[in-house]
Amino acid sequence: MRAEIIAVGSELLTPDRLDTNSLFLTSELNQLGIRVVHKAVVGDSREDMRSSFRHALDRAEVIIASGGLGPTDDDITRETLADLLGRKLHLDQAILLQIQERFRRFGRAMPEINIRQAMVPEGATTLPNPRGSAPGIWIEDSGRIVILLPGVPVELRTMFEEQVKPRLVRIAPSERLHKRDLRITGLPESDVEQRVSPLYAMYPDTETTILSSPSGIQLHPRMWSADAAKAEKILDEITGRMALALGENLYSMKGESLEEVVARVLTENRATVAVAESCTGGLVAGHLTDVPGSSSYFLGGVVCYSNDLKTSLVGVPAELIASKGAVSSEVALALADGIRKRTGATLGIGITGIAGPGGGTPEKPVGLVHIGIADERGPREKAIRFPGDRERIRIYATYAALDTLRRYFPYSAHGRG
Ligand code: ATP
Repeated sequence: MRAEIIAVGSELLTPDRLDTNSLFLTSELNQLGIRVVHKAVVGDSREDMRSSFRHALDRAEVIIASGGLGPTDDDITRETLADLLGRKLHLDQAILLQIQERFRRFGRAMPEINIRQAMVPEGATTLPNPRGSAPGIWIEDSGRIVILLPGVPVELRTMFEEQVKPRLVRIAPSERLHKRDLRITGLPESDVEQRVSPLYAMYPDTETTILSSPSGIQLHPRMWSADAAKAEKILDEITGRMALALGENLYSMKGESLEEVVARVLTENRATVAVAESCTGGLVAGHLTDVPGSSSYFLGGVVCYSNDLKTSLVGVPAELIASKGAVSSEVALALADGIRKRTGATLGIGITGIAGPGGGTPEKPVGLVHIGIADERGPREKAIRFPGDRERIRIYATYAALDTLRRYFPYSAHGRG
């Protein structure tokens, strides 16, 4: 069963307001086995809205529109649809009474303009709105179902749960969406795609989307099927092969965040960590403590921006900073080793880099970050050059430090989380 969502409202075409209703509706429809094949955002224009509805009626069996059911002149969703379907609007006395009663409860008389919210297209079912005045509308027409819901997200959600979902459940197909969520670090999106794309042809019933975020790449293989066991088996197979193709770059097969995986491997290995951060300014400590229970593995950290604090708080020799520079392999190693020794943590992480926009040189360009990790055998270090602006460099460096921690533990490198 195919669905289309139309978000109505001129404000949704400005940079100020985002259509979030369709995200909620898509998730709900997918759970019912209904595929969303098209989404549209349209302003409060009769002509544009009419065209959106006409196209939607051509390609989907279920059409859900949100917004434009209010009392003002620009709320024309109801009228536009009724006109398109050739249905007259009539005043529903019961709805009018409900709206008047609602206003009375709030100690006000109903303004005249609210009468239009009680106008219902011929043959439509109205859907009560316990959270607002505008009722929803359900119309069946030539094998299509059109559902009009209010734009206010809390009203839409309540009405969907209470009125729409129970009706759709009765007619929804037995197909369901089955999906997986694989998380990857250390490879650019194009490399991930290159490694896994040969699998797509082997599993033609599946569809995989690839997403990029500062914490890495996400692969979402999905499959629609009425046979849950079969779908799960096929997804097991394709994700198993993806895991082989991705190797230790894969850190979770069930959508865990990098922070959660780091928390898990540190806890499983009874290891603790402390950090000495320069260019990330405490972001690594912040992300490590995002996970509840982090006190069992995170001892603490130092933000040592100045050279003096690198020396006084972490023990980095002043001569080393003078001879090699604050942004250097040697200082990252000394930061990692120093913070480990001073805190007694199992592992120490040291980060120094140039986040920019100023301060870069040909030898040490903006985006160069050194990440050190130390254990009882001593410190190791790697240098990475991140692209982008200051914000991106700092967040990428933070995730690279978390990834360094994850990869320290061989089990996690297999990414079977
Ligand atoms: P009301 O009778 O309460 O006015 P309505 O159906 O006319 O309901 P709108 O006026 O279109 O709804 O929108 C009401 C509020 O909900 C606005 O603040 C609007 O920005 C917000 N809204 C509308 N559509 C969406 C959407 N698709 N996603 C998120 N917010 C939305």
